[in-house]
Amino acid sequence: MRRNRNAKIVATLGPASSSPETIRQLFLAGVDVFRLNFSHGTHADHAARVETIRAVEREFGRPIAILIDLQGPKLRIGTFADGPIVLAKGAQFRLDLDMVAGDQRRVSLPHPEIFAALEADTTLLLDDGKIQLRVKSFGPDFAETEVIAGGKLSERKGVNVPGAILPISPLTAKDRRDLDFGLSLGADWVALSFVQRADDIDEARALVRGRAAIMAKIEKPAAIVELDAIVQRADGLMVARGDLGVELPPEQVPTLQRTILHACRREGRPVVVATQMLESMITTPVPTRAETADVAAAIYEGADAVMLSAESASGQFPVEAVSMMDRIICQIEKDPHYRGLIDNHHFEPKPTSADAICVLLRNAAHIVGAKATITYTFSGSSSLRAARERPEAPILSLTPSVTTARRLAIVWGAHSVRATEAVDEKTMTDLACKAAIREGFAQPGDNVVIAAGVPFGVSGTTNLLRIAKVWPTTTPD
Ligand code: PGA
Ligand code: MN
Repeated sequence: MRRNRNAKIVATLGPASSSPETIRQLFLAGVDVFRLNFSHGTHADHAARVETIRAVEREFGRPIAILIDLQGPKLRIGTFADGPIVLAKGAQFRLDLDMVAGDQRRVSLPHPEIFAALEADTTLLLDDGKIQLRVKSFGPDFAETEVIAGGKLSERKGVNVPGAILPISPLTAKDRRDLDFGLSLGADWVALSFVQRADDIDEARALVRGRAAIMAKIEKPAAIVELDAIVQRADGLMVARGDLGVELPPEQVPTLQRTILHACRREGRPVVVATQMLESMITTPVPTRAETADVAAAIYEGADAVMLSAESASGQFPVEAVSMMDRIICQIEKDPHYRGLIDNHHFEPKPTSADAICVLLRNAAHIVGAKATITYTFSGSSSLRAARERPEAPILSLTPSVTTARRLAIVWGAHSVRATEAVDEKTMTDLACKAAIREGFAQPGDNVVIAAGVPFGVSGTTNLLRIAKVWPTTTPD
C-alpha cells in the first residue's frame, strides 16, 4: 500500500479514537504517525493503543511511527474552595505557595521557580492567555498582581510566563516515568514540551539513549532565541502553535512557523506543524475554508507533516478530519505552483559526500525521468538527506532496520520499506529494483536512481549513486 503524497499526517489518539476499529480506519484514511499525548490518559490506555497500532502495522505491512508527547513542565494553579471565580479588570489577585484552596483574592501556584524568575511588571497568562495578570510586587513565595484581562477562572488552569526563562528541566518527574514507560512500549519518537534551551535536548538524549528520536516542541520565546542550536541538536521539531500563540502574540505565529520550517529544511530535520489545523472539525464534519488554507500553507512551505490534536483525539469526526487533511495535501501537491514554491526554499548542500550524492540523486532522477529516488540506508540518514533535496520522484527508502523504517514515517516523501541486508552493490541494486516494482513505483523498463553508502552497514557513508533500469529488461547499464 502506498500513499500518493509527500507530506505526512500525524494524528493524536484519545478517547474518541482508541478503539481498534477506529485506529485501523484512521490509518486507512491516511495517518502515518500516531501521537500518544501523555498529558492525558493512563499508561494502560497508551499500552492498548500501541498494541493496536502494531497490529495494524502487521496487517498492512507498512511501518507506522509512534510519537509519545511528554507533558513537560506545564505550570498550573491550585484549586478554589467554592468553584470557579470571576476576576474583574483592575482587581488585585495574589498567587502564592500556600496550598490552602483559593478564593476571590488568591490562589496557590505551587511552583517556587516561577516566583524566583519574576520581575516587576512580568505578565502572567492563565488559561491559554484568556486571563492576564501583571506582577506588582513579589517575593520568593508570592506575587501580588493586577488583573489586566479578566474573566472566569477555574481550578488547575495552566499558567504561562512568556517573558521568563525558568530554571527548570524540560522533564518533570512525571515525564521521566512516562518516558520510561513509552520507551518500554517501543515508541519511535519522543516529543519534549516547553523546550527552552538546546541543552534541554541533551538532557533528554542522555535518558533516551538512542531508543527513540527526539522532537523538540517549539512553544516558548526562549526556544526561538536558541532555534538554530535546537535544530542542530534535535532529530525533529514541532511548531507547537497552541502554546506558542499564548507565549507570544498570535499574530507572530505565521512568521515564526516560516522561520522554524526554513531552519529545519536547511538542516534536513523533519518538522511538524501542529495545533488547531482543522479545529472546527471537533464538532462539524467539514472544516472552515480558513482551516483548509492553513493546512495548505504548511504544505506549500514544505512541512514534513501536519498534525491533528483534539480533532482526532476527542472530536466527533476523527476519521473525517484525517481524510480531509489527506485530500488537502493531495490537492496542493498537484498544483503546478507547488513545485516552484518548494524549490524556492532549496538550501545549499553541506560540503559532505552525502549531500553531494543527494543533490546528484535529485538531478539525475529529474534528467532521466526516474520513477523513484531510492535510498538504501541503515540509520536513515541517507533518506533524510535525500528528503532535504525535496526530489520530484518519490523517495523509496530501503532499510534492514525496523526502527529506522518506522522513524522515517514522519519524513517528507519517504516511503520506507524493510529490506534484507545487501552484501554488495549488485545485490543492493537488485533489491532496490525489486522493491520499486513490488511497492508500485516502477514497471520493468523504468529508470530509478539509487543512493547508498559502501561499505554497507556503516552509517553516514552515503557515497554511491547508481542509475538503473528496473529488472527484467536489464539490470546493469
Ligand atoms: P500540546 O502541544 O498540544 O501538548 O499543548 C502542542 C501545542 O502547544 O501546540
Ligand atoms: Mn503545547
